[in-house]
Amino acid sequence: MSDSADVIIIGAGVQGVSLAFHLAQRGLKPLVLEKKFIASGATGRSSGLVRMHYDVRQDTELAWVSFQYFRNWKEMVGGSCGFTRTGFVQLVAPSDTEKLKANVAMQRQTGVPVLLIDADDLKRLAPTFAADDVKLAAYEPESGYAMPSDTANALMNAARLKGARLIQDCAVAGIMTNGGRVSGLQTSQGVFSAPVIVNAAGAWAGRINEMAGLDLPYDTWRHDTMFVARPPQVGPSHPTVIDFANEMYFRPEGNLTLVGLEDGNPLGESPDNDADHARPGFVERGIERICRRIPIMENGGLHSAHGGYDGITPDQHPMLGAAGPDGFYLDCGFSGTGFKTAPAVGLCMSELILDGKARTVDISIYSPHRFAEGQQITGDHAYSSAWH
Ligand SMILES: Cc1cc2nc3c(=O)[nH]c(=O)nc-3n(C[C@H](O)[C@H](O)[C@H](O)COP(=O)(O)OP(=O)(O)OC[C@H]3O[C@@H](n4cnc5c(N)ncnc54)[C@H](O)[C@@H]3O)c2cc1C
Repeated sequence: MSDSADVIIIGAGVQGVSLAFHLAQRGLKPLVLEKKFIASGATGRSSGLVRMHYDVRQDTELAWVSFQYFRNWKEMVGGSCGFTRTGFVQLVAPSDTEKLKANVAMQRQTGVPVLLIDADDLKRLAPTFAADDVKLAAYEPESGYAMPSDTANALMNAARLKGARLIQDCAVAGIMTNGGRVSGLQTSQGVFSAPVIVNAAGAWAGRINEMAGLDLPYDTWRHDTMFVARPPQVGPSHPTVIDFANEMYFRPEGNLTLVGLEDGNPLGESPDNDADHARPGFVERGIERICRRIPIMENGGLHSAHGGYDGITPDQHPMLGAAGPDGFYLDCGFSGTGFKTAPAVGLCMSELILDGKARTVDISIYSPHRFAEGQQITGDHAYSSAWH
């Protein structure tokens, strides 16, 4: 006899466990199957930036709803997500200043606390930053970063208290259907049955889609990051920053600064490749880039570097919704930006599965069918910068 559940979620990254948390809140007993261990994929490697600046309204809405969880974690979830408020600065190329203004206006309509600041303001916030190229920037005083592994563990622990289960070391190898409807999964630990199956397998989700007979445009995205020991002159902390002008982001963590680059992130590699080490040349490029924005970082030292893999789609937005056999849902393709939205995405997916429609945020634009329908997502005031 096979083990059974109301809903089976494939993958115990932050997205899978967020969905388990919200389904359990609604009284279901979901089962999460994970081939390695919780947060062993992109989640455990994530830089954990928590901010609301996007050029697509629904992205901002998902991040804003999620932000209520991050800053009220103990009350809304329990345990800790390690949220640290640093303030967040979005820097853009001077040619994108008008787009920045339009996007900030959209974010304000959504309720996000965000200001426009100039180079002098930036210098007051972060005296060691080079600001000569800055015309206008967006500043979110309440944003910052959280700890992705802690976040995932807290969500799963809270889900477990309400009856959810997690089975680790359990690799899904096949999807079973009956009369055009999902009926269960073949795994390394035997057969599990459920009327609803959700693909939250991150960079591996393309393989799961194939098991379900789906032919969707889905790729893998590799991203390296490094920690630099900050010289004391930079001070005890600094804001979290996305710096489109230098194709980079960075944030503090204790006396270290985490740096990631927007360029040089290869597509199409096997997500099973070594991600414990950064790729050759990454550290040199990262150091050159952070020294452009914080010149005194020349006196810093490398602490560590590693990589990670996420799933990516052609418009760099997730695939959320039903596709393939009845009862099969996609919750994947977060394209390097799915940590900060996970609490709200899980909530919206639970509404979609249980009520037929997401109420909290309209997630219909993320339909997995949009590529076949020629409806790729793009912001009204999209920046030229994108992951590549
Ligand atoms: C280096 C890096 C930095 C990032 N920084 C940020 C950031 O600052 N802010 C932000 O918002 N986002 C960031 N992201 C993106 C974010 O981390 C991801 O979008 C998010 O973690 C994706 O979560 P997930 O649950 O979809 O995937 P994952 O965390 O990858 O989880 C998928 C899980 O599925 C499991 N799995 C796969 N195949 C199977 C199978 N056959 N059977 C069972 N289990 C399976 C995997 O083992 C894995 O644990 C970053 C990503 C990377 C790689």
